[in-house]
Amino acid sequence: MGRTLIQNATIFTAAGDAPYKGDLLVEGNRIAALGQPGTVAPGADAADTVIDAEGMFCMPGMTEGHAHLSFENVTATENLITPSPETQVFTAARGAKALIEAGFTSAYGASEAKLKLAVAVRDEVNAGRLPGPRIRAGGLEISVTGAMGDESTAHNPRIGPSTIVDGVEEMRKAVRLHCREGVDNVKLDVSGDPFYPNTPGHTTPMTFDEIKVAAETAHAYGRKINAHTRSLEGSKHCVRAGVDGLFHCEYSDEEMLDLFEEAKDRIFVVPTVGLFHQIMAGEAAGHGLSAEVGGYMNIPELLENSVKTHTELRKRGIRHLIGGDYGFGWSPQGTQGRDLEFFVEYYGYSPAEALVCATRNGGLAMGNNGELGTLEAGKLADFILVNGDPLSDITVLSGPDRVEFVMKDGQIQKIAPRLSAQQTQPVLEAAE
Ligand SMILES: [Zn+2]
Repeated sequence: MGRTLIQNATIFTAAGDAPYKGDLLVEGNRIAALGQPGTVAPGADAADTVIDAEGMFCMPGMTEGHAHLSFENVTATENLITPSPETQVFTAARGAKALIEAGFTSAYGASEAKLKLAVAVRDEVNAGRLPGPRIRAGGLEISVTGAMGDESTAHNPRIGPSTIVDGVEEMRKAVRLHCREGVDNVKLDVSGDPFYPNTPGHTTPMTFDEIKVAAETAHAYGRKINAHTRSLEGSKHCVRAGVDGLFHCEYSDEEMLDLFEEAKDRIFVVPTVGLFHQIMAGEAAGHGLSAEVGGYMNIPELLENSVKTHTELRKRGIRHLIGGDYGFGWSPQGTQGRDLEFFVEYYGYSPAEALVCATRNGGLAMGNNGELGTLEAGKLADFILVNGDPLSDITVLSGPDRVEFVMKDGQIQKIAPRLSAQQTQPVLEAAE
């Protein structure tokens, strides 16, 4: 059984402990021990690999809470629809690689450009043939006629990036088909969206009965059910229908906030604030989506409501996840850690609390019997070493550069050359 010893790191467990300087020992695919320097292993020769992490921040691997692995440089739904599945499976593989290199050891799937892209990449990653995080694979978005993702018109039938269903029976069949094809996370488009002018974000084209049968069917197959829901009615429907993961959720009233709070030990909420920030900061202007265009799309009002709703949900102890809607022309895969900064800036999280959203909450959403997302003896060995202190500068996690070491399931996924060069030294010393 392989052993890896990390020495002298600043350890952030995400389990409620104050950060401390210490060591962490991995045996096989689990964390065997962690504690004060020199206390977790009898000597350097107790491990096959020893890493001196002086000056580095050791924390659990992060979870992308709303992953679109197959989104790369997307500027229009055309970029999702036109390429073949054969081409897009490579795109999705690159997405998985970018995530693990940026410190994301888990990806909680939203939807993909084609049905089985994340399923195929997940299976290759699990077999050890491709680099990537643990993946709960999303499939296609499931939507209803005339709503988000339905790009047909009467004179121009066209297959959009979604499965379009109407009524309870069609919904049941679509969810069953997703389950048959190996999808872990089924996603519904419950509310409208600013990118679909016929059904703006505050509208709710999907019915409660459709949502409920989708949730029951997904759960009957042991899968999770998630929803794109911006509207007030949509978010309430989702909680009442048993949806597990709620994406966006901008609009709220007292009843909605109470419903979420009552369900806070069951649901996960992913605000996906990055996209609004990027549009309003002009970062998407080079792709025709300037702040002015964002204004026509009602983005400022959505952002304002997002701030109000998610600040309140934070106070009520909702389990927020970071990430979501990256992979556009202005938001490359692997920059999802920017959301940490947005959580601090917009929702009032402290840096440590934002890290808990990215790690502990993400690990719980992934499932795995609660064995992910914190650094504790006995838990699965998914963690990263960061060159810098995210608690004093949260932006060090905004991309892959400062993430110098990534371990997933006890296996080294990434190691910076300077760490690699020194890693075997203590073992050689021990052999002398
Ligand atoms: Zn999305």
